[in-house]
Amino acid sequence: MVPGTYFPFYLSFLQQPQRYIAHLDLDSFFVSVEVLHEPSLKGQPVIVGGSRERGVVTACSYETRKFGVHSAMPMATAMKLCPQAIVLRGTRGEYSRYSRWVTDIIAAKAPKFEKASIDEFYIDLTGMDKFFDPYQWTIDLRQEIIDQTQLPISFALASNKFVAKVATDQAKPNGYIFIQPGKEKEFLAPLTVNKIPGVGDSTYQVLKAMGISTIGDILKFSKEELEEQLGKWGPDLWDKACGVHHGEVHEYHEAKSISTENTFGENSSDVDFLLSQLVRMTERVAFELRQDEKLAGCIAVKIRYPSFETTSKQVSIDYTFRDDELIPVAKDLFHKLYRKGQPVRLLGVRLSELASHGMQASLFDDAEKKADLYKAIDSVKNKYGRDSLLKARTVRKQDEAAEDD
Ligand SMILES: [Mg+2]
Repeated sequence: MVPGTYFPFYLSFLQQPQRYIAHLDLDSFFVSVEVLHEPSLKGQPVIVGGSRERGVVTACSYETRKFGVHSAMPMATAMKLCPQAIVLRGTRGEYSRYSRWVTDIIAAKAPKFEKASIDEFYIDLTGMDKFFDPYQWTIDLRQEIIDQTQLPISFALASNKFVAKVATDQAKPNGYIFIQPGKEKEFLAPLTVNKIPGVGDSTYQVLKAMGISTIGDILKFSKEELEEQLGKWGPDLWDKACGVHHGEVHEYHEAKSISTENTFGENSSDVDFLLSQLVRMTERVAFELRQDEKLAGCIAVKIRYPSFETTSKQVSIDYTFRDDELIPVAKDLFHKLYRKGQPVRLLGVRLSELASHGMQASLFDDAEKKADLYKAIDSVKNKYGRDSLLKARTVRKQDEAAEDD
């Protein structure tokens, strides 16, 4: 026997099984929910977002995207680009209900899944190809979600989370795609580099200056050259351009905390930039908090330095879901933690000690009255009894007095 034919067969026992990861993402989720409730909005340029002066775009329909509108853009900019857009404040509070519905459908079927955000899921189908075709299985699951909820949803199946996420974006709106194992690099090559999650404006400019515009262009450079230009992020980008990624699907549990963290493309010691990121992240977790119809009793901020040294600090707060109450506390924690002048690699914000309030939050209204908060707290008290709410937090003196009764 020729060793060359024998040896690979023998080696195949040592190989890892082929990974199959599906990434499912509801299409412009908030807008789609609004359209379900008001069918005349279908096909219209719709933006769900905050006030026209100070708010940001939370979600936008595909009809607005051709004007350059995208989520997280200031509303003022969006209104300039697409003045005819129908702006909704998104106060219906139905989003969490639909999100839970989709989660339940997936949970009933999937061997192992992760809920990455309110409208985004990863399913690990590795090893399942012995029993069924993972692609057909995911096609059927998607159809079931659409049949039950009427919400448009796209997915991609690939050999890892990164390629699946990028591919879902290519499949949108309302489509699906399978990136065959081994074809990752080929699929990624023609896409522009900003299709890689985490490539923001500043990295994009550096890459452009290097003559890199597509993901394929990244591989014209060596890992070392990229590291010189971009630090640790460089070799990571190189691996991604090859379609290599080892991230695991983290199994879903009902949230005991809501958190977000951001590893910067480039480390930064610019306090204004770091604070602006911190505000944006706090707004994001507060938004998710309101979506889940919860209040938070504790907030934490985390800072990681380039040496991977990580510090965090948390503080108990009066139960709230309000940006204007959470942001000053987050900033204060940041100032207490941050070692001036040190570059920061990662910033994180976490809300915990969550309590349901059982009422629909007015999602975007800055001018919301303080009274609403107390109404919300009262509603929790009524539901779970005073003790549950007063435990484990810093309470105002009169509340403590009241509890002693
Ligand atoms: Mg989505």
